[in-house]
Amino acid sequence: MRRSSCVIVGASAAGISAAVAMRRLDYRGRITVVDADPNPPYERPPLSKSLLDGTAGGLVPILPWSTYDDLEIDLRLGERVTAIDLGALQVRLGGGDRLDVDRLVLATGVTARRLTVPHADADNVVNLRDAADAWRLNSLLTRGGPLVVIGAGFIGLELAAVARQRGIDVTVVEAQPHPLAHVVGSEVASLVVDLHHGHGVRLITGATVERFVATGTTVEQVVLSTGRRIDAATVVVGVGVEPRTELAASARVDVDRWGFPVNEFGQTSRAWIFAAGDVASQAHPHLPARGRLEHWDVAQRHGEAVGSTVAGEPVRYREAPYAWSDQYTGTLQIVGRPRGTDQVVLRRGATPERFLAFWLRDGRVGAVAGMDASREIGVARRMVAANVLVDSDVLADAATDLRGLLKPRRTRTTEQLAG
Ligand SMILES: Cc1cc2nc3c(=O)[nH]c(=O)nc-3n(C[C@H](O)[C@H](O)[C@H](O)COP(=O)(O)OP(=O)(O)OC[C@H]3O[C@@H](n4cnc5c(N)ncnc54)[C@H](O)[C@@H]3O)c2cc1C
Repeated sequence: MRRSSCVIVGASAAGISAAVAMRRLDYRGRITVVDADPNPPYERPPLSKSLLDGTAGGLVPILPWSTYDDLEIDLRLGERVTAIDLGALQVRLGGGDRLDVDRLVLATGVTARRLTVPHADADNVVNLRDAADAWRLNSLLTRGGPLVVIGAGFIGLELAAVARQRGIDVTVVEAQPHPLAHVVGSEVASLVVDLHHGHGVRLITGATVERFVATGTTVEQVVLSTGRRIDAATVVVGVGVEPRTELAASARVDVDRWGFPVNEFGQTSRAWIFAAGDVASQAHPHLPARGRLEHWDVAQRHGEAVGSTVAGEPVRYREAPYAWSDQYTGTLQIVGRPRGTDQVVLRRGATPERFLAFWLRDGRVGAVAGMDASREIGVARRMVAANVLVDSDVLADAATDLRGLLKPRRTRTTEQLAG
């Protein structure tokens, strides 16, 4: 009988977590993880942090190299999966090799969206997604500024912070009138914007890139839709991502605008093909509608759940998503997904450097965000998981010990029932 064989496409947060979970559950088949990136599997978040802060930090490995041997996980690095042969039950690699497969995990992630204006691929324009991009950006920043960041998302703002800390002149251009407001609401977004203003970042909102002015293969100016011109030594483009669903055609699995639609166990429209991490389009209980959750911790936990399911112990991925973003010396942490219809409670005494905000749904804690508030976030994470009922005034009082709010609160109905 042919030995069972699982191929995982993508050796990052989701793919590696899936492989490790399978071995921990004693999956006896062959596990091969294929990635087009030639580097040993590394953590992506440091690419916009320690790899660029001028301290010459290197790639942070996801696992010690020897663990792959110990767990009998075969890595095929620097190789691209080009197609799935459904007839032969094989995965085709760019170099011509074929791998037998009876369980396939697509953990292919997303790719940075590119601008479509001329010179968008100039020598000093960077779309930051992988190690090669980070090394190129670091060497550009070493030459000095000015830096123009297109897109004020979390990664764009992290880059602005890192560059300011290196003394580089930074302008951030954002199409929306209020950066991050669609992610964390206007109250928290304006605190983050104030933080950047305080560090000397020039933020231009309601503007897009009209064109680049280049000499040879180097962009020298960014011309905005408003007509304004900004000098640039380096341009970083952070205007969103696209799911990597190229394998859908040969695998004959469904795709939607978010990625591969999966059920709560990570199965695609073909039961033996799974998708995990950024590329999965999930109907997650913390999302108002089907969508992508693009965070490192989510990709790891989703990959782990999918790996367990592949190994024969089905696990539903339903936890509140957790994300973080380093901004200057503070870390912004977010648990759950704030919604526009939530009641926002900002704890009193908030400053751009330190704050804690809660989003209440029908009086219950649905999401939390905090800057430089790791200790409180630890408790708040449990509050979100328990969906605790809270009094907004008590919550807003910075003197309230959050641990006390974890205890179940008697509602009027339960009091009445108790007589
Ligand atoms: C610069 C940066 C900073 C970030 N910082 C944070 C942060 O601070 N906090 C946070 O929560 N999240 C952060 N994120 C997001 C986080 O890194 C992602 O959510 C996470 O990497 C998703 O993991 P994944 O395994 O789903 O996909 P990815 O990490 O995107 O990996 C997918 C892999 O699949 C490979 N691949 C794709 N197609 C093929 C193919 N056909 N053949 C072979 N290989 C293929 C790719 O080469 C890639 O290595 C950051 C992301 C970036 C880019």
